[in-house]
Amino acid sequence: MQVLQTPYGLECGLDTSRISQGEAMTSTDLLRQLDGVKARGSDRWSARCPAHADKSPSLSIREAGSRILLHCFAGCEPEKIVRALSLELKDLFSDSPPSQGQRFPPKLQKLDLAAVAFRFELAALDRRLRAERVLTGVGAFNGDGMNDEERDRLMKVVARSYEDRDRAEFLETLADDFRVKALHERTERHAA
Ligand SMILES: [Zn+2]
Repeated sequence: MQVLQTPYGLECGLDTSRISQGEAMTSTDLLRQLDGVKARGSDRWSARCPAHADKSPSLSIREAGSRILLHCFAGCEPEKIVRALSLELKDLFSDSPPSQGQRFPPKLQKLDLAAVAFRFELAALDRRLRAERVLTGVGAFNGDGMNDEERDRLMKVVARSYEDRDRAEFLETLADDFRVKALHERTERHAA
């Protein structure tokens, strides 16, 4: 949902340009479903908010270009207002597939969380393998007969390997996070 921050708080932007053709929600359609509608200017109305027991018209409706902006002065969430009108945001916005009619290109390219997780995982694996290779090698290494400089260099390599391992662990945590998020998103999409 497109929520716009305004000096009065949050407003809901119903993007009418993205509703399936023939199904396009106009401000007139919306106003028809509201009680106590009064015109407050050329593209502005007030009405009783359907989301709360509203005696005075607390809902402001404004048509701004292709959008209808809703604002309840009693503080109702735009989502709640739309829901009270039996309107489903998922039908109104392109980031969910419209139930009928043409598809609109998504405004934002969705981040592929699973792909991000996979990339982190690969990076983690790369570091982990490098670290294990070095540490295994060092473990079998007989340090006798090394001079200080060589020993110093070896210590640095070992230290870097431990860093690699830490880094790998961190990357794996990130990968897990993204995988959980991806899963979450998928379940939400199915539930919707
Ligand atoms: Zn309200």
